[in-house]
Amino acid sequence: MSLPRIAPDELEGLNRDVSIQRLAEARGIRLQSHGKDLLCMCPFHPDTSPSLAISPGKNLRNCLGACGTGGTVIDWVMKAESVSFRHAVEILRDGKLPVSAAPIKVFILANPRAPTS
Ligand SMILES: [Zn+2]
Repeated sequence: MSLPRIAPDELEGLNRDVSIQRLAEARGIRLQSHGKDLLCMCPFHPDTSPSLAISPGKNLRNCLGACGTGGTVIDWVMKAESVSFRHAVEILRDGKLPVSAAPIKVFILANPRAPTS
């Protein structure tokens, strides 16, 4: 018995539509502008100066410090929540993250401009 495969289309959609910037902000990570990218303290290694670069345009992260890791939205959730690949997909699919006790809504990039009036 094996679990059904996760469709590549769905993975692509999650990695594209869930903002990695918002995932960082949801964890209370402060982001600084750095050209087209954002810099912050890397949550994946003990960091003393901001060494994690987030590229909102590409929706990717890349650590320039000790852990040297990089990756996509799904990879972020796997590491940040210490969950399996499949569990990370399920979390994102359900639109919520089990961060600490309080579930934090996953922010979706689609339709970023809600009507303000
Ligand atoms: Zn790092």
